[in-house]
Amino acid sequence: MSVQIAARTLATYPMLEKLVAFDTTSWKSNLELIAFVQDYLEGLGFQTQLTYDDDRRKANMLASIGPLDRPGVILSGHTDVVPVDGQAWDSDPFQVTERDGLLFGRGTSDMKTFLAASLALAPEFIQRGLERPLYLALSYDEEVGCIGVRRLIAELPALPAKPFLCIVGEPTEMRIIIGHKGKKSMRCRVHGLECHSALANQGVNAVEAAAELVAYMKTMQRRLRDHGPHDHEYDPPYTTIHTGVIQGGTALNIVPRECLIEFEIRNLPDDDPEALFAEIRDYALTRLEPEMKAVHPEAGFTFEEVNFTPGLHMAAEDEATAFVAALTGANNTSGRVSFGTEAGLFQDAGIPTIICGPGSIEQAHKPNEFIAIEQIAQCESFLRRLMDRICRPASA
Ligand SMILES: [Zn+2]
Repeated sequence: MSVQIAARTLATYPMLEKLVAFDTTSWKSNLELIAFVQDYLEGLGFQTQLTYDDDRRKANMLASIGPLDRPGVILSGHTDVVPVDGQAWDSDPFQVTERDGLLFGRGTSDMKTFLAASLALAPEFIQRGLERPLYLALSYDEEVGCIGVRRLIAELPALPAKPFLCIVGEPTEMRIIIGHKGKKSMRCRVHGLECHSALANQGVNAVEAAAELVAYMKTMQRRLRDHGPHDHEYDPPYTTIHTGVIQGGTALNIVPRECLIEFEIRNLPDDDPEALFAEIRDYALTRLEPEMKAVHPEAGFTFEEVNFTPGLHMAAEDEATAFVAALTGANNTSGRVSFGTEAGLFQDAGIPTIICGPGSIEQAHKPNEFIAIEQIAQCESFLRRLMDRICRPASA
């Protein structure tokens, strides 16, 4: 038996309608949304600080209110959404549409509802009297590698007091998530020497050299799978190494000069992605390159990091875990997830960080993305319990 809640009675609803209406697909500007939120929060008395991308087309916003000389709480989320191109939607993705207790729209789960709830309830935090500061952190370019938030995090050491907690409201159906794998993405260019394939011995075949490296990474993957380290809180319970792109060669009768491969390492806390990458590079440089260079001194491998996002590794016994568990009500067991978030970057900056937000990752990135109205109600209750912890006690 579930009780039907009228969406329009929830404080979050009008704010969610507003946020969804801004098309903040990652490759587009988010400045209109940021300007709207900045105007709204400054009207409530927040201080706001923007950090921009190089082209000043996108911005992060850190908004703060309360006694800033004390440690406070950050509520954090990304403003960007994934594209709707090529997806079959039954309604306008940039207009919230209600059907059967669900609200449809791009970003309803990932993750504008958490932002909307935080913004909509900000006046209540203020009315209740903040005894600790409240920070709202809105980022850009999360969906394309957690790019934007790094500039916001770089400003946090300038705060008068370090926040004691960050809650990243990615969709977890309001369960508390204390870990996810890190991810290191690499691009490798293999440089060979072109010649007629009839004289293959006079050339350096970049495709074959790349294939040998890919095959070596596959042997590493089998080793990690079979011999660990293992951590059964993760699925799969080992570090993964995966090649996603290989491009090279122009014609069958030409020894290929160039080959490009892109691969990634998604690591458990017990694995060091740098050490795994060093093993891959060493194999390329010491086992494969000498033979290539013997034919052509300029042949060889070059590696370039495309992205690195650290994992989140909070302990179940951590105070922050217990603090957030208490906010969720009955549903308070912690878990770990396979998708990456900005949370590891906050933890790397020394701020205990937990992921907990409304909606489900199952709906994220798909056509007809939705949020259950009941999830919004749960998120509002969660934020009101946070008020109980960081605002003045209600007078008896
Ligand atoms: Zn997200």
